[in-house]
Formats: sequence, C-alpha cells, structure tokens
Amino acid sequence: VAMLFGRHTKNPIRIADKEVASWTYTTCGYCSTGCAIEVGKNAQGQVVASRGVGGADVNRGKLCLKGMFEHELFEAPGRGSEPLLRRHRGAAFAPIAWDAALDHMAAEIRRIQGQYGRDAFAVVSTGQILTEEFYTLGKLTRGLIGTNNYDGNTTLCMASAVSGYKRSFGADGPPGCYEDFEHTHCLIAWGSNLPEQHPIIYWRLKEALEKRKFPLIVVDPRVTMFAQFADIHLPIRPGTDVVLQNALMHVILAEELEDADYIAANTTGLDDLRAEVANWDPTTAAAVCGIDEDRIRLVARLYAKAPAAMHIWTMGINQSTHGSDGVVGLNNLALLTGNIGKPGGTALSITGQCNAMGTREWSSCSGLPGYRALENPEHRAEIGAFWNVDPEFFPKKRGLFQTDIFPAIETGQIKGLWLVATNPLTSMPNTARIRKTLEQLEFLVVQDAYADMESNQYAHLYLPAAVWAEKEGTFTNTERRVNLVRQVTPPRAGCKSDLDIFNELAKRFDPDARVRFPERPAEVFEEMTQLARGRPCDLSGMDHDLIERQRGIQWPFTREQRAGGEIPPAGGVRLYTTLRSFHHPEGRAKLIPLPFVDNNERPDAQYPFWLNTGRLVEHFHTRTRTGKVGNNNKFSPIPFAEINPDAAAELGIRHQEYVRCVSRRGDALAMAMLTPRVPRDMVFIPFHFFDCVNRLTLGLLDPHSRQPAFKQAAVRLERVADQGAAARLCVEARKY
Ligand code: SF4
Repeated sequence: VAMLFGRHTKNPIRIADKEVASWTYTTCGYCSTGCAIEVGKNAQGQVVASRGVGGADVNRGKLCLKGMFEHELFEAPGRGSEPLLRRHRGAAFAPIAWDAALDHMAAEIRRIQGQYGRDAFAVVSTGQILTEEFYTLGKLTRGLIGTNNYDGNTTLCMASAVSGYKRSFGADGPPGCYEDFEHTHCLIAWGSNLPEQHPIIYWRLKEALEKRKFPLIVVDPRVTMFAQFADIHLPIRPGTDVVLQNALMHVILAEELEDADYIAANTTGLDDLRAEVANWDPTTAAAVCGIDEDRIRLVARLYAKAPAAMHIWTMGINQSTHGSDGVVGLNNLALLTGNIGKPGGTALSITGQCNAMGTREWSSCSGLPGYRALENPEHRAEIGAFWNVDPEFFPKKRGLFQTDIFPAIETGQIKGLWLVATNPLTSMPNTARIRKTLEQLEFLVVQDAYADMESNQYAHLYLPAAVWAEKEGTFTNTERRVNLVRQVTPPRAGCKSDLDIFNELAKRFDPDARVRFPERPAEVFEEMTQLARGRPCDLSGMDHDLIERQRGIQWPFTREQRAGGEIPPAGGVRLYTTLRSFHHPEGRAKLIPLPFVDNNERPDAQYPFWLNTGRLVEHFHTRTRTGKVGNNNKFSPIPFAEINPDAAAELGIRHQEYVRCVSRRGDALAMAMLTPRVPRDMVFIPFHFFDCVNRLTLGLLDPHSRQPAFKQAAVRLERVADQGAAARLCVEARKY
C-alpha cells in the first residue's frame, strides 16, 4: 500500500540529504511554546533545513510540523520586496523608495493628528515581532507620536489571561512552568486542545504522564484530540465555565477541602467568595453548564485532595464574554487549595503567539514598559526621565483596546491606522463589518512581511518587513522564558527589519535625536535591562549571549543573581513561591466572587447550532506563513466544518460535500466533515482561513479584557445544491 500511495521509505525526509554546512541557533517564530531551533544552510548559503535543539529544556530536540518546515518561510511566495503606495482608494499600488515612503507616512500621521487630534491616529501591533522591536515601537508611539490608541492583536487571544492575572494577583505573568507537569498530581485543562495547538507542550505533559500517572481532566465542548486522551472529559455548554468553576468551589468549601492556612496567610475576600459560590451547588450548576452533578463532585475532590494540582487553559476560556472571569475563577480555585507557587501547583495560561508575552511585558500597549502603568504618576515620571520625554506627554490612562479601535474608526473618531504584522480582515470577528471599517480610513499603513496578506487590500502604504530569523532579538514564551532569535539570513532584498523601520520613522518625529533609539538589538536589550530592575519581569541579569548559552532563561533573573554567581534557571522557575508575595496590598492575592450572567448569542429555531472555532496543528493564525509552506498547506488546504453525523443526516448533508453556514452576520462555505467530535447542536470551523468563519462570528466583548467571544455564536447549515460552484469558490478562489 505504501508503494502504491507514494511513501517508498518510512522516513523520506532526511536532514543528511540536505547537505547542511552550518547551523544557526534561533527560536521558533510560531507558537508560544518557545522551541529552540537550529536552521541549516548549505555550502552555497541557502537555507535548507530546520531541527530541534537537543540541549534546550523547552523542546529537548523536538519540533512540531510547523517548526520542522519553518526554514521554508524565507522564500515563500507573497513576500513584499519594496514599499508600495496607493495615492487614493481604488488606485493600484505603485513602488515608492523607502525614504519617501517613511516621509509620507510621517507627514500623514502629522496631518491626521493636526486635523483631528493626537489620538485620531491608531497603532495595532502584534505578538509576532521581537521584544526589542516591541520596546522600540512603544517608545516611538508613546514618546514621539503620542497617540493613546495603541494596542496589540494579543487582545484577540491573551487579554483575558492578562486581565485575570492582574485582578487576582495584582500583576500579569503566568506563575507556573512546563516542569510543573512532572510534579503535579492532577491537571485540569480548560478549553485547550494542546496536542494540536501546542504539540511540544503536549509532548512534555505526555512524557510526565508516562513516568508517573495522574488524573488528566479536559473541559471542552468538543471531543478534541486532547479530550480523547483524558481520563475525564467534561463536555461543557459553551460560555458556562464560570458556573462549573463556582460549583467546584462550592464542593471544596462545603466539604472543607480548602487549604485554610494558605488562604488565611495569602488572600483576601474569602467571605464574599463563599457567599457567591453558595448559590452554585452541583445540582443547580449542572442545569446550566451541562456537566453531571456527580461528575462535578468527583472532579472537585480529585483536584482539592491532590498534593499538588494545576490548571492550564487557552482560548476556550479567554475568548468569551466571561473570559477574564474564567481566568479569575481558575485563580480562585488555585488559591483556595494553595496551588500557586509550588511544584505542580499552578494556574498556567498557555499563550498563543511566539511573543505574546514580549508584547505584554515591553510593548507599552497597555501602559509603559516593564509592566508599568500610565495611571501611575511615578511610572510616567520614571519612563519620561529615562527616555528624555516630558511625562506630561504621556496619557494618564490607557487608550482603546484593539477591539474598540475598529468601532472608533466606524464613528470617525479614528482616521488613520498603522497595522504591524497583524491581519484584522481575517482575524477579527464579523469580516463584513471590518471590511467597511477599513474602507473608511483616510490613511492605512500595513507593515508586514507578506504583501499578499488580506488587510493590505485596503492599505494606502505598504512597508515590506523582514520575517522571523531575518532579524535578531528575543521572544518570551508561555513559561516566561526569554529565548534568542539569532539572525539566520539577512532581510530579503528590499525589506527592512521592524526595528529599522521604527528607528527610521523615529528620526522623522525627532530630528534632533532627543530620544535615544539604539540601532542594534543587543543594545536595545541592554536598555531594557536597566528598566527591568526591580520590576516583576526583571530580566536585568540577562544578555543575548547568556540567553543563547542557557537555551533560554525564565524571568525574573536579576543582575544581583548573576553577580552572585547563580546559574539560570535559578531565577524564575515559578512566581509567588514565598509568603504574601502577590502584587496587591500586603502581598495578598484576591479571591473574587463571580456572579454569572448568560449574555451569549444562543442557538434558536432559526440558527440551531452553536458555532465553535479553533486552531489546527498545520496552520498558524491567518495562514500568511503556513498557507505557503508545502507540507503545512498540503495537509490542511481548505476550510472545513465539523458536523455531527446525526445532524447532517437530518439535513441531507454528506461527508465532504460543501455546506453553507449562515449566521446573522453573513455566510461562509466549508467542506462538511462528519464526526461525533462535535455534539448534535454544534459546528466547529477552524479560524485560519480568510473569508470563512469570521464572516459568521459575532464577537461580543468581555467587559474587563475587551477580548471577543469568538466561540459562542449561532448558525444554521444549508446543503449547497451546486457543489461544483462551491468547490470553485472554496478551493480555486484561494490564493494559497
Ligand atoms: Fe514552533 Fe510551537 Fe511547533 Fe514548537 S510547538 S515547533 S514553538 S510551532
């Protein structure tokens, strides 16, 4: 059979065949796992192979499908090669020289700010560029351009985790690490399909489970790959995580399974929390969240009685109207049982993008660098003095989140927008609305490695950026590990690194060089270490070379630790390991009651299915990269809709036929994949594909984090009569 269908040998790809002459250390630029990777060049200097780094603690030599072919990115189609300018909407792009392009950009920003006010120009950044670039963009935006409407696309993925950590612990920062798998006695995964989303973190977990068995509990409305591997699967009703959490806490407190000493020493708010969870006995909760009441009791006992227990979660918690509350609920459970800051006891958010953490720590999106707040006068003064910027120039509170910037464009409050390595036309909910919004802009700049990314259709100016390891700098991963991206190859001809673009633009706003903008990434990092001292994310003991030697270092790692001869990772394996070390007054964490309000769009007679969205192992975000890498795209070339076979039979839909999904926002075509992974009343569609699932999503916002509820909307399904036309639209109309 193997001979007939193409596989002539068991392992047809052999690195030895690539004739690699040299390897360069770097860090994977896709997901937040943070795998250390080496990229190989042949004797002619061509980039030909990728392999995992054996001595790196994160991945121990392994890579997933994306990392294995990451070297193919550099020559992928669709890369930009020169700046492009569109003189007016509807005109074709024409090439423009770099200097003229940046002069034009600076002039347009000044025009818009002069005409409509400083905040009428907005900046939406990413979780993809290097930390040194984030820091520099923050300095440019906060210190020179001076708009307060500056945010990152991380609002679509991690904002609820940030908000929840801040509410519970007083500061952002995941308190645990991957090593916790080796110490825990019970793991509950909430809304995370780890084997597909973070395959190497899953491999770490699997290896820990093989060495020492402990209960693995997966909370997810779908029978995901992870749920299939679990000991207990809790198929929760979408959007009701907080109810299940309250019920678990109800059982823990009713059966006196809490850690009373830990609570008394380290927290505030127990009485209010107790009063709220009293309303959520398992019988009441089961009727709302759909989990059997005895199952709730069993899980509460397993979790609370374990000597150390942990939660992990991803978008199933975060992308909800209760996203921030869901994170607080997990923190509540951990605090009630004393499961913070000890080996195997933690609440660890699994981040999304390779450098979502770097933007949280250093981009100044939500404040000022090093987790400083605009609302804090001392922080404004400190950064003002360090940057040589009048602190009065800084806003006194944070501006709009990404998800509020687009409505502000609709209302005319914002007239100009700069997108840095983000693609809202594909990634934001309600594509039709975003399309109209982008059309309204007087000036849109797209800075991206790929000229063919969809949002560029609406750009007035396109700036071609270098990609991943065409640059040098650091990423921070899910477990706060700072790792190094070494430059493997120079930027593609005609492209500039994001750092160079920011530095060049800074000269247009600061011709006297009043504010220092270092040119080399290592110098920028050194500047950051000065601002990091004493901050929660203290990395003052690090430099690029040490980070590479150690294959990544977790923060905090201080200058004093380094001077004292401590070898990383002596610094920050875990946070909150000592008594009252939280960032709220007296070092106490907050137990916060979480009343539940059911505010989702729900299935009804007209739209009878829940719409659920998520990721695939082959692709990353909006496919600007993986859509062009052969082995990634080959395995997952078109959008599909998982439909329960019973529901499909009722509608006359057959396996692998094209179906039309319709919501109140729009419609989308996808290939039907009949599978019992989804319940009878649910459809799952991956989020990576342009003009697909986000034509349907509603995206109500979480009140704390402003993160959209991508995973809770209602749709109906229609069989498509003309399958040929649907195939042409679904397959042939796709560029990649
Ligand atoms: Fe890259 Fe994530 Fe895959 Fe590791 S698991 S190789 S970081 S995409």
